[in-house]
Amino acid sequence: MSSQQTPPASKRLQLRSLYSLSGIINLSLVTLIIAVMLLAYTTYSKLSSFEQSLNSMMDKSLPSVIQSGKLYSQMNLLLSGTEQLSMANSEAMRRIATNAIDRQLEGLDKLSQENQQTYHNTSQLSSLERELDELNTLVEQRIAINNKIERLTAKLFALQRQINTDLTASPPTTASTSWSLLFSQIMLLSAELTSLDQLSEIRQRQGNLDSLFTSLSERADALPADLQQSAQLAIAALSETVLHPNSGLIALRQLQLKILGRVQGRSNFVRNLIADYARLNEFESHQLNQAVLGQAEKTSRLVEQQIKQASLLFIIVLFAYVGFALFIQRVVVNRLKTLNKQVQQRSTGEGHLITVSGRDEITELAKSFERFATTIELQKNTLEEMSLLDALTGIANRRAFDDYYSQALNVASRQRWPLTVLLIDVDYFKQYNDNYGHSQGDVCLKQVAALIKQQMPRKTDTLARYGGEEFAVLLPDTDLEGATTVARNILDAFKNAQFPHDFSGVADHVTVSIGISVGQQQDGKITLPSVEAADKALYKAKRTGRNRWVNDADDDEQ
Ligand code: GH3
Ligand code: MG
Ligand code: MG
Repeated sequence: MSSQQTPPASKRLQLRSLYSLSGIINLSLVTLIIAVMLLAYTTYSKLSSFEQSLNSMMDKSLPSVIQSGKLYSQMNLLLSGTEQLSMANSEAMRRIATNAIDRQLEGLDKLSQENQQTYHNTSQLSSLERELDELNTLVEQRIAINNKIERLTAKLFALQRQINTDLTASPPTTASTSWSLLFSQIMLLSAELTSLDQLSEIRQRQGNLDSLFTSLSERADALPADLQQSAQLAIAALSETVLHPNSGLIALRQLQLKILGRVQGRSNFVRNLIADYARLNEFESHQLNQAVLGQAEKTSRLVEQQIKQASLLFIIVLFAYVGFALFIQRVVVNRLKTLNKQVQQRSTGEGHLITVSGRDEITELAKSFERFATTIELQKNTLEEMSLLDALTGIANRRAFDDYYSQALNVASRQRWPLTVLLIDVDYFKQYNDNYGHSQGDVCLKQVAALIKQQMPRKTDTLARYGGEEFAVLLPDTDLEGATTVARNILDAFKNAQFPHDFSGVADHVTVSIGISVGQQQDGKITLPSVEAADKALYKAKRTGRNRWVNDADDDEQ
């Protein structure tokens, strides 16, 4: 037992030099699993960075593009509002313009909060609001001055009409006509002030008007007495309307021109501010878009690279899997099938050596099976040899026959009894086997044994299967006469039994040939029976036609 558990040193060495199939399979499986996991991990990580990039585009870039668009239209509206405000000539137009500007500013403020604008951006927006407020104030002042100037101009024309009425009431004189002409000239020059655009021109006009007023006052003295008073009043009113340092036409026109310039300047400044604000926002949005697009491009390149790598890895894994499957099929499955076939053949007695090529566990398994089968065969042979009965027919076997024979020979010698040995062989049994099959041959042999047994009524008689399709019979205390009787009975029994044998060369049923060897004392002469002698007689029976018996001692036969 211990030698079975621990293989000898040479065996251990041989085992160590084997290839381990389980090791190869385990290694291949682990490699495949690692490759698949690697593939899954890299694909997942690249996909998640792609997702991040998409999210950042959705969260930052897209809103920024939308904000940019909104901002652009707000800016345009704000620009046109500013234009409208600078051009406003009436309080109503100014209010409409400021309302529109307020709405746009509100919208921009909202956008700025939504967009989490930078400090720079927010402060620019509030300075824009301040500037627009100041522009509005200036426009308001300008409109007020316009109104005042309009009123003064109307007053001028009213004065002219009054003077004309006064003068036409009294008879015309040279002095009155000359005064009236000068008055009209002053009035026209004053009215013209509203169309002068240069401050220098206005100052020059002021100088002219000053001297004209002096001559008007002087000429008033030459007027008739009834006109003097109304002339003085008209001069005072005209002078106040035109020359008053704060509310006169000249002062107002100067102020109006100054405010117009300031409105123009402020309006330009506001327009520049709006354009700056728009540019700044556009720049920030552009920068953000560039960053996100750069990130997206990088991720897309990575994903593209990843797809290539994943495809390559997938192809490698696929090839490895197919290779592994082929390996298992060729090295394991096919060889196990061969082994199984060999073991099955061996178990039915058809097979030869169980052997599988290679140097792995399957080869070792085949060797173990071979050792096992050899051991079983040896044990089977030993058991058969030890047994006294024939396994197929159930009658005595050759070993038992040899024992009985030597005992019977002793008894016969001692008692001087006759003793007969019959050797019986089935005729043309090879043809029987070849045509009806080996197992049918076995059935036939059983029938043959039973039939011969029936022809031996004595208990002391022994029938044995001597080998193959050959039977030996031992008939103690039986002389030649008895022997030939038994032989004849056997031949008759086969003739009657008619076991079919269409391929026999001697009959259409199974027949046997019998060789007889009789040992007896006759005329003081002692002969001993022997299997060899019976065999010789059997050979003769075969040679002379079969289905007959032949006695070894003489030429008698039937
Ligand atoms: P002959 O008439 O000269 O005896 O011819 P034969 O064909 O009977 O003799 P041969 O010796 O040529 O063939 C004997 C055959 O018997 C061959 C062998 O296969 C068959 N045989 C031997 N033992 C058994 C057995 O146990 N079972 C079966 N079915 N056949 C057996
Ligand atoms: Mg035979
Ligand atoms: Mg034979």
